[in-house]
Amino acid sequence: MEKIKAARGTKDILAGDSKIFQLIEDTAIAHFSQAAFDEIRTPIFEHTQLFSRAVGESSDIVNKEMYTFNDRSDRSITLRPEGTAGVVRAYVENALDRSAKPQRLWYRGPMFRYERPQTGRFRQFNQIGIEAFGLPAPYLDLEVIQLAYSFLKKLGLKDLTLYINSLGNEASRNQYQKDLLAFLEKHRDEVCEDCQRRIDQNPLRVLDCKVPEDQELYKNAPLIKDSFDEESLRVWEQVKDGLEALEINYVEDSNLVRGLDYYSHCVFEFKTEDKGLGQQSTVLAGGRYDKLVDQLGGSETPAVGWALGMERLAYLIEQNLSHEKTEKNHIYIICDDTIEALKLSSKLRLDLPSNFTVEFDFDSAKIGKQINKALKRTADYALFYLGDERESGTFKLKDFALEVEEIIGSYDELLTKFTSQANMTKGTLNV
Ligand code: ATP
Ligand code: MG
Repeated sequence: MEKIKAARGTKDILAGDSKIFQLIEDTAIAHFSQAAFDEIRTPIFEHTQLFSRAVGESSDIVNKEMYTFNDRSDRSITLRPEGTAGVVRAYVENALDRSAKPQRLWYRGPMFRYERPQTGRFRQFNQIGIEAFGLPAPYLDLEVIQLAYSFLKKLGLKDLTLYINSLGNEASRNQYQKDLLAFLEKHRDEVCEDCQRRIDQNPLRVLDCKVPEDQELYKNAPLIKDSFDEESLRVWEQVKDGLEALEINYVEDSNLVRGLDYYSHCVFEFKTEDKGLGQQSTVLAGGRYDKLVDQLGGSETPAVGWALGMERLAYLIEQNLSHEKTEKNHIYIICDDTIEALKLSSKLRLDLPSNFTVEFDFDSAKIGKQINKALKRTADYALFYLGDERESGTFKLKDFALEVEEIIGSYDELLTKFTSQANMTKGTLNV
């Protein structure tokens, strides 16, 4: 029979990679709970209308990247291309705005976009994101940027640069749109097809174009700051002063506009210099969206958030990773009776901390082969539990690294031996 392959733009996350994904998620769970963020899990599919209204009819995502289909009752359904729209829908639908402000949420999970697959760009990919509701700029913006910064730092990533820009308030943006249009009309014939559409639908978005010639041209476009009113300028200065007080370095990029429609005031991205990700150098991106809750039927609520791409992050962690083992917590039982091995392994898995791995071989006949398998599996210990040991209630423990064997007098002693290991510190990655 012909083999069936994974769909284009999707991939299986196997052993080594899934360990890195687990590390990212474990770190996220601890990090966000420390900052009093609650996890929210929204559906993977939503009514199509949610995304056309939230992300914007003129955005690339809604125009050409969504997985949209009619279900059996002829409703238009879309696999979520991003997380914010669903979180805001849930926020409004569940009246979360009635709890004390600010409301802080985080999410994780797969997103779907019909894009050209390449390094760091898939059709199904995973994001982790946070959304914070209820306070206008600048302090909540500073908190979410600070949380992104410290999260990346906890994961050991150092070579990331924070780029920031401000889109100002609505009045400033409207003014800028006029100034920008005047510039774009003069260059309409020189820009790419996508940008020609953007000029008519949403001129600001041309600045997000990935075509190098277009990017070069837009360096001469009018600056958004030149259209700022007093409020927009004040907020922008407060954000920058705050980042300086928090000692978070940033680069101002006046052409950073982000690909989604709903942003205002501060927008930001963390980018890597690592060439391995090609054009896909943005790992984390976000901004303020003060109009979105209102746009989705809630009461006007200012909000700010970001999302990171787990595949891009996992790639960078992999580059940084030391493959040296830092924990000794993998036990391989050597036993001549499979039922006895099953019994002992299940007892140990209950009694030992969860960072221990307890394995055995189902082929109980050949002891020599079992030891070879333990080594192949890079176990730290062989725990001999053969007829003699079982009779006397003792164990023989071989430490592979130290090349020493010792007799352990009882099961309790065995537990003490493992749990008193000084090297049991959690949080490092063993791959
Ligand atoms: P890009 O400019 O790379 O297309 P974006 O502006 O479309 O990114 P967002 O919608 O802001 O991205 O998503 C936040 C993050 O999610 C991105 O910075 C990136 O790390 C990740 N991401 C976005 N699209 C993809 C994809 N198709 N495959 C893998 N990761 C992605
Ligand atoms: Mg994109």
